Amino acid sequence: MTMQASADAVVVGAGFAGLAAARELTRLGHDVVVLEGRDRVGGRSSTVTIAGVAVDLGATFVGPTQDAVTSLAAELGCEAVPTFSRGKNLIRWRGRVRSYRSTIPRLSVIELLDVSRIQWRFERVCRRVRVDEPWAGSNAYQLDGLTLDGWLKSVRASAGTRDLMAIMSRVTWGAEPDAVSMLHAVRYVKAAGGLDRMLDVEGGAQQSRFPGGTQQIAVRMAEELGPRVVLGAVVRRIERHGDGTLTVTADSGAVRARAVVVAIPPEHRRAITFLPDLPPEYGKLAEHWPQGKLSKAYVAYEKPFWRANGLSGEALSDEGPVFITFDVSPGDDGPGVLLGFTDARTFDPLPPEQRRQRALTGFSALFGDQALNPIDYLDHRWGAEGFAPGGPTAAVPPGSWTTYGRWLRKPIDGIYWAGTETADTWTGFLDGAVRSGRRAADEVHRALSG
Ligand SMILES: Cc1cc2nc3c(=O)[nH]c(=O)nc-3n(C[C@H](O)[C@H](O)[C@H](O)COP(=O)(O)OP(=O)(O)OC[C@H]3O[C@@H](n4cnc5c(N)ncnc54)[C@H](O)[C@@H]3O)c2cc1C
Repeated sequence: MTMQASADAVVVGAGFAGLAAARELTRLGHDVVVLEGRDRVGGRSSTVTIAGVAVDLGATFVGPTQDAVTSLAAELGCEAVPTFSRGKNLIRWRGRVRSYRSTIPRLSVIELLDVSRIQWRFERVCRRVRVDEPWAGSNAYQLDGLTLDGWLKSVRASAGTRDLMAIMSRVTWGAEPDAVSMLHAVRYVKAAGGLDRMLDVEGGAQQSRFPGGTQQIAVRMAEELGPRVVLGAVVRRIERHGDGTLTVTADSGAVRARAVVVAIPPEHRRAITFLPDLPPEYGKLAEHWPQGKLSKAYVAYEKPFWRANGLSGEALSDEGPVFITFDVSPGDDGPGVLLGFTDARTFDPLPPEQRRQRALTGFSALFGDQALNPIDYLDHRWGAEGFAPGGPTAAVPPGSWTTYGRWLRKPIDGIYWAGTETADTWTGFLDGAVRSGRRAADEVHRALSG
């Protein structure tokens, strides 16, 4: 596709952040070009089908207080439905499968007391952390010197609590608790409104999902923008000129603009050459803001047979590779579709047939032998993507926030930074992505309007 040679602003990346930024800038009267490296829009939101049912390889759920993404979806005519949660949940724990209701599984009284104690202590640390400038809190350096695992050990969390927190860490950051800074963990959870808000189905981030998938929201934003969105345009270079303009060069051509919004995960900024060099902190930040790795397996059956057995399809497992499941079936009459988050460390290196086998074994350990006879199966490994790999979001290690955090979204010479990792509310989620795009658009608008 040929691209226009100049614009008011160029947006790099057509995920939710980049598209929201472009949409907002267009609404404010600016001429925008969006350059996307993949051959599709949506970024970490990608919808495919299994047994004819739309399912999301990446982002699936939305919940209360995620007003930016839910109002955007409503405005674009994308309907959300409640996540199926009727019936009992399952937990596979220490080799046994038990059922429970609510978010916290049925563990022994001692284990439950310890989970509550650690949750209380975690939320107390949250209160003292600044979401907007996490490096500035009174305990910032101390927390950033610890991993989440180090903190759990320091407060003598039981083995059971640590295993539950590891499941949370895996699904939230695609990383183990010993890889994530405690300062990052508490800031992230605080930006989501607390542990319950982040982890719950009812009243939490998993409350609703889109039967048509989340990618349709991105597709509709892109349709509005029309030819302003250029696919297959991997941005290689951003050059700042003496007259204050910039040139953004992709494989397919170059665009000159007065402002650039880079709406990609911080780690992927490393793949772009900035001329002249940016101050070294920007490059160091990108090096120290790695993406986590999370994978998903979907399995489809004639019917959601677990519903007839009084099960919600929600499950937790301390044994891999399938460690969290949800029911994303369209209805009671079929097909029945289970979503399983899988542990990238043990799942990703396997060849396709073994991945399928291991996933089915995991589903059947929870839901019984009926789970061994699917009508369809698929999986997706975000860490193995050829271009812009990783997700769900950054797994920020100790030291990064206090050393480089100030440069995460600090504009420089007409370059502005968006992407869910730069958000203060619901960072890491679709909602944070939309908010970050709008914030960057506002910065650009103010700059362009003098
Ligand atoms: C398995 C998984 C499950 C998730 N579940 C949920 C969920 O249930 N709910 C939720 O809210 N969120 C969820 N998320 C997180 C959510 O997907 C992200 O927060 C959100 O999509 C990030 O949007 P973004 O625009 O900031 O970044 P991205 O979606 O990563 O968009 C960045 C875009 O930039 C492009 N790009 C990168 N480098 C270049 C370059 N050099 N040139 C041109 N283009 C480039 C990429 O191809 C990509 O399209 C999940 C993510 C994953 C992976």
